[in-house]
Amino acid sequence: MRFQDRVALITGAGSGIGRATARRLAAEGARLALVDWSGDGLEDTVAAIRQDSAGTAGADDTLWTGIIDVSDEAAVERCVSDVIKAFGRIDVLCNNAGISGGHLPVTEQSTSEWQRVLGVNLAGPMLMIKNVAPHMQAQGGGAIVNTASVAGIRSGAGGNAYSASKAGLINLTMTTACDLGSYSIRVNAVCPGLIETGMTRPVFEYARSNDKEHKLGSRCELRRYGRPEEIAAAIAFLASDDASYITGQALPVDGGNTASLNMPGMK
Ligand code: NAD
Ligand code: ADP
Repeated sequence: MRFQDRVALITGAGSGIGRATARRLAAEGARLALVDWSGDGLEDTVAAIRQDSAGTAGADDTLWTGIIDVSDEAAVERCVSDVIKAFGRIDVLCNNAGISGGHLPVTEQSTSEWQRVLGVNLAGPMLMIKNVAPHMQAQGGGAIVNTASVAGIRSGAGGNAYSASKAGLINLTMTTACDLGSYSIRVNAVCPGLIETGMTRPVFEYARSNDKEHKLGSRCELRRYGRPEEIAAAIAFLASDDASYITGQALPVDGGNTASLNMPGMK
């Protein structure tokens, strides 16, 4: 119960890794502010948390939901102020909402799509941190965990806007850790490898319908793709006091994918 009496705000909580993180933190006692631009997704997450706890957690005073676009500055400001009205504090911020955008080479990249991906994946976390950190400063501390990607460390997984946004998010993690360290606010990132979620559904559907299922995760040293719960476990660790001396770091949770050169003929 590492999050007993703590309030966590999770973006992208309506699906995949964000939903798994919400369930994990709820199971460890957190009160939750769940944010997504999909109201249906949030409803399913709330239902899952209620089912997990069999009625012992997830009552209305422990779960708050907000339907916003994290790249909309005015909406983020309103959202954070509403969460503070509801709970009085924010101990944990998980910037997890993200979009993959089109998988196009730079010569085919539209400027508007580039700005949309950077807006959600990079400006979104910045806006959330900008609005949440003052409350953490006033409280005397907090923990922020950003969901970056292995695509921000290497490239080739996702389009060029996606990789650039996640590389930017890794540096934003370091920069904000420097800005906020003296206030006892820790900022870290997880870098998931290939995980089966809404975002990667097309990848999985394509592989399964083209006799390529064996290729999913085949470049990972663990020889498999990952589950949302395996990312949620790492996010929960970084958000908890177990990681009390860790800040400014980006932790790959990728089955060994980024550790490896994946040399042909070596497997
Ligand atoms: P997902 O599509 O299942 O979940 C993303 C959630 O974020 C969705 O519920 C979506 O509605 C929400 N969202 C997207 N844009 C939003 C916005 N502007 N405002 C509010 N909510 C928004 O995908 P996922 O894989 O669970 O993605 C979670 C994070 O993990 C993303 O940041 C993604 O880039 C990252 N990631 C995923 C993988 C993977 O293989 N699935 C790998 C590396 C990183
Ligand atoms: P292979 O590249 O041999 O088909 P992999 O298991 O390495 O097999 O990757 C499967 C696919 O998943 C790749 O096409 C890769 O681009 C894609 N992929 C990996 N990570 C992501 C991600 N974060 N978002 C979208 N697609 C991804």
